[in-house]
Amino acid sequence: MRNIIPVKDMMLIDQRVKEYYAWIKENVNTQDKGYFGKSGFTVDHHSYTFRFGNHSELPADMLDEIAGSCVSDFRVFSTAPSDEIHKFVDLRKRYPGSYYLEIIYDPVADKAQDIRDMIIDMRSHGILGYPEVLITQRLIKAFSPERFVEEALGPLGDIGTQLQLGRYTPSKTRGFKTSQVVSVDEEVEWMTAVSRGILDRKYDIHPIPIGEYAVTFLDEYNEVEAIGLDGRIDEKLLPEPEPFDIDNVRRKTKDIFLSSLYIDHNLDLHVWSESMGQHVLDRNFGFEPLGNVRDRPIHEFITEPNGVMNKMLNEVIRNLVTNRKCSGCRYKSFCASHAIPLFRKWQQDDGKHCYGYLPVIREFQSDRPFLRNMVDGFKELGF
Ligand code: SF4
Repeated sequence: MRNIIPVKDMMLIDQRVKEYYAWIKENVNTQDKGYFGKSGFTVDHHSYTFRFGNHSELPADMLDEIAGSCVSDFRVFSTAPSDEIHKFVDLRKRYPGSYYLEIIYDPVADKAQDIRDMIIDMRSHGILGYPEVLITQRLIKAFSPERFVEEALGPLGDIGTQLQLGRYTPSKTRGFKTSQVVSVDEEVEWMTAVSRGILDRKYDIHPIPIGEYAVTFLDEYNEVEAIGLDGRIDEKLLPEPEPFDIDNVRRKTKDIFLSSLYIDHNLDLHVWSESMGQHVLDRNFGFEPLGNVRDRPIHEFITEPNGVMNKMLNEVIRNLVTNRKCSGCRYKSFCASHAIPLFRKWQQDDGKHCYGYLPVIREFQSDRPFLRNMVDGFKELGF
């Protein structure tokens, strides 16, 4: 068993990432306008997430290769449920820093109690992490929302864990299988009922990304002003939306894209979307790589006027302003930064609901103590 990327390529990746982080601090953190910059947020660290592998299966010397070549204060490894936490505990002793495990949790095959035991074991050794559940036809057929809340989440309901919910998208590694795709309407309705179940049972679970979206709408879009007497958002009371300033939205979306990138085993670089489902925006979504880190520093090809990055941004904006549902919608700027229009390449959201997942967001917005607890949980993660 060995790493898919040879160590000398990993070291080149590390060199490119470090150059890029220096460029971001010098050029993006200092800009006057944008999501990042003098008057907004700043990028204050870089981290590595090692994805698409069951890293707990790797022998210690292979884990050493990864941690030793890609140096950062924060390292995230993906893994199937495992009782081999000791590998990461030992690795952390050799390569110190904050370690997180993203546990690929399939409730059809895995037991919630095992996930719970794993998280508690990890924490006792200073390693944090959370389960990630992919929403597939297989999952929603096996689990009604009630059963999912009861059986798949119940044993995790008192340990204050994040829960990442992800949308299934066909890809090369999945053999471009479309049989597991869940329609947006089915997904929104299933997730809305799951959200209600989590709140009714007062689970100490922090659902991402939808819980974060609920907080963003309340705070940054001032929706806190629209809370009605029953504690729920009354859409009639929503504040006047800000005018859709294309240049501003494009700039902010670009900053979000610039801060989340994925390098594949060919060393091709792509945008990594942190929206529902966490996707590499690559040829599966109709985009060529932004460039190859073997050839040039990252900042050179992402700033090219006719480069892939600019084509993606053009497409996001064009789709939002022309789409029947989105053109008149107040959430266009939010949906731009989550690359939502690009998901329409695989499936249109032309039914009752859309990729904005508003009914799910509204459920979480109805329980502010739940959201406050979730935000405190994020702070504890320190990342
Ligand atoms: S995807 Fe939905 S929420 Fe987002 S802009 Fe379009 S209509 Fe609005």
